[in-house]
Amino acid sequence: MLLTSVLHAGLLHHELSVQLYSENSSISAEDIITLPGNEDKLIFSLNDAFEVSSQNAELEIISHSANRRINVYQLSRLSEDRKVHLKYRGKIIENSRSGLFGMPERLFNEKMLYLDGRSHWYPVFPAYPNFTFNLESNVPQGWEIISQGKGTRSANQIKYQMPRPQDDIYLIGAPWKRYAKSSGDVELEVYLLNENQALAQRYIDASEKYIGIYSNWVGSYPYKKFAVVENSWQTGYGMPSFTLLGSNVIRLPFIVYTSLPHEILHNWWGNGVFIDFTKGNWSEGLTAYMADHFSSMQRQQDNEYRRKALERYANFAARQNDFALKDFTSRHNEASQAIGYSKSLMLFHMLRNRLGEETFNKNIQSFWKDFKFHSASFPELINSLLEGTELDANSFISQWLNRTGAPEIMLTESSLKKSTDGFELSIQLEQQGDSYQLFIPMQVIFKNGNTITEQLKLTDKSQQFNFSYEHQPVEIQIDPDFDIFRLLNPQEKPASLGRLFGAKTQLLVYPEGSSKEEQNAWHHLAASWNKKYDNIRLVSDSEFNPLSADTAVWILGWNNKLLQKHKGRLTSESQKMHPQSVQIDKDTFQITEHALVLLDNDTRRSPLGFIGTSNASTIIKLARKLPHYNSYGRLVFENHSASNIVKQHLKVSNSPLKRSF
Ligand SMILES: [Zn+2]
Repeated sequence: MLLTSVLHAGLLHHELSVQLYSENSSISAEDIITLPGNEDKLIFSLNDAFEVSSQNAELEIISHSANRRINVYQLSRLSEDRKVHLKYRGKIIENSRSGLFGMPERLFNEKMLYLDGRSHWYPVFPAYPNFTFNLESNVPQGWEIISQGKGTRSANQIKYQMPRPQDDIYLIGAPWKRYAKSSGDVELEVYLLNENQALAQRYIDASEKYIGIYSNWVGSYPYKKFAVVENSWQTGYGMPSFTLLGSNVIRLPFIVYTSLPHEILHNWWGNGVFIDFTKGNWSEGLTAYMADHFSSMQRQQDNEYRRKALERYANFAARQNDFALKDFTSRHNEASQAIGYSKSLMLFHMLRNRLGEETFNKNIQSFWKDFKFHSASFPELINSLLEGTELDANSFISQWLNRTGAPEIMLTESSLKKSTDGFELSIQLEQQGDSYQLFIPMQVIFKNGNTITEQLKLTDKSQQFNFSYEHQPVEIQIDPDFDIFRLLNPQEKPASLGRLFGAKTQLLVYPEGSSKEEQNAWHHLAASWNKKYDNIRLVSDSEFNPLSADTAVWILGWNNKLLQKHKGRLTSESQKMHPQSVQIDKDTFQITEHALVLLDNDTRRSPLGFIGTSNASTIIKLARKLPHYNSYGRLVFENHSASNIVKQHLKVSNSPLKRSF
């Protein structure tokens, strides 16, 4: 890869010194700009609220954009040392225009200061989109001021130095409490609106951990600081060397292993390698894959993560709002998320599976080295990833980036015959619509318990595959782990609590023979769920009559007469009920110590669920808790405390891509 060898020679530099006046929302600034080129005249733009003058160049307004509140100026008679001195001052007028999270584009009041390139609060030179800067500012009493890079504090002044190319200058302030820790040469910081040592510590520890992980995986962390900054708007923004997280968001327990690693990784993808948007934004998909998907892998929930990604594409993009990935710039609704994140991350997953982990990692590290602090396009990323492999980047790009749609794969035929020395398996795959070039995994399970995965190269609309095995196959499944980007069949949806909650009627069957206290608790659960779902009927186990197909049945309590009768539906390979315990995979849970929620896994039948506890106080707690476990299909809680110890998604039991023999 050939790039300009002298990295920073062609960069403009801002030496900014800013005075903030929070009492009247105004700022005054001095900017000494070092120009890298030899031009006689130069154009820049600045917010029209500022009065601007130059001490050493001629300055003239050449146009004005009223709706964007921006003046365009021309500089001429530039001094020989190629430095331009500008002074400007004015009031920051809060605008009503807001982004994804409802936050104004710029603001300055007694609670917060927020300025970035969109409001042109510093001179923006279109000829030099990337630049370096130093920024010095006063710090209003009781405030902290944040920008990119590492800050040096003295009395009521702060100075940020940013020697790496940037395309924006952030100037943000609020009355934060600052927490900090040095980790190697990186300063880890947390800025909170109210004191909270424990919360700050959690973010400092997690930041240190993920910066370590990604530095090893991709290349050294590119900045001297990483800060988690609390925002009273509920944002989830990732800026170079810091992230701006909403007050509610920052307190959600899962953010430290979901949004945080995602925003940290954006320091490499998007804020380290910049995005050339002309052929699509690659940074969200790659970041989602290496952060969110990676973290789901560590929790062994990556199959479910990918299934949900495919489901999002099927629900929100496929039929109605589909567009090619090359046209994705940023997320603004479900469809753009389904393409720019979900489809995109599946492409990186397919590439990683094809290349193997080692090659994928080696090539992603080269991409980082080659494009660090430069812009890269989506095709450039694909080319880097496929470097040195036999795969053809152009066909990958035209199939996945330039084309709308998704492969739709059907298993149309399957047969198994006994031969003289083993078994002959034959299957037929078909593609609806235009065909794709695909490598599809097929899992084969044998009677002796062994499992193998075949890779099927599907290129035609209809193709037959034949296999010979010594041992007898009993089951095959095409793409069982959702490794391929494809249009999901509606039946590929596992049983979940949400399937019962969302049924036309939820019939709750309580045990008549149980204690008064337990019965009262079940009545409480029924009343509380009816407020939420408005579809509850409550009957006792002696009143129960089998009902229509659109009714979901909950069997409540261990002493329920229905339990014996329906035990078979609640039993599977990985879920077994014994008189005093329940076995889930290899773990055994005593029914005296645990509350369990088990479902019938077969989605061809009307939904059936069982809540296994007879403890009244646990039931009351589960009434409130269970609706939060919508997507799960198997739960274990401690009795009494009702704290959750197992939550699992069930596997799809009757996929149309599966056959049993
Ligand atoms: Zn992102």
